[in-house]
Amino acid sequence: MSIISDVIESTKAIIKGMGVTLSYIPKQKWTVQYPDEPVTVQPRYRGQHLLHVDELGREKCVACFLCAAACPSDCIYIVAKDDPRPPTERTGVDERFAEVYNIDYGRCIFCGYCVEACPKDAITHGYNFELSVYSRADLLKTKNDLLITKQKQSMNYRVASSDEDVDSEYKEV
Ligand code: SF4
Ligand code: SF4
Repeated sequence: MSIISDVIESTKAIIKGMGVTLSYIPKQKWTVQYPDEPVTVQPRYRGQHLLHVDELGREKCVACFLCAAACPSDCIYIVAKDDPRPPTERTGVDERFAEVYNIDYGRCIFCGYCVEACPKDAITHGYNFELSVYSRADLLKTKNDLLITKQKQSMNYRVASSDEDVDSEYKEV
């Protein structure tokens, strides 16, 4: 008798489980076949940083070190240099610019404090999340990697429109 009731209970449990599984089959699927399909990121997503330039192509960073001071991970390294040339010929928007601007992505926690601290809007977070490398040394990105005019943009993401919520934890499924 107990064997028969066990079989009945197990069968009921299997049918219940399969019912849940089957109920999900017709629903919209959220799995993205990355990198064949682009991943959608929120407008506020914090990816690899971008160092910006003005309309004349001059670097906005004036090497004030405020971002480095605000960084809790101590992962920004800057070497400042004076540029006494006339304003239109300068590398940056000011007499002082960052000759070296490195971020160590082995330490960065993408907190955004550097962006908040910058008085010149010279640094923001971009959307690039493809930072995987085989060597830890390659996580050190230089000005050439970060400058918006030189940074290679991945085709593997798209940015969500402002009314589109792509956070899976808030998605109704
Ligand atoms: S995002 Fe945070 S941890 Fe990364 S460089 Fe900026 S301040 Fe430092
Ligand atoms: S990125 Fe901004 S805060 Fe950092 S050194 Fe340049 S101007 Fe200063």
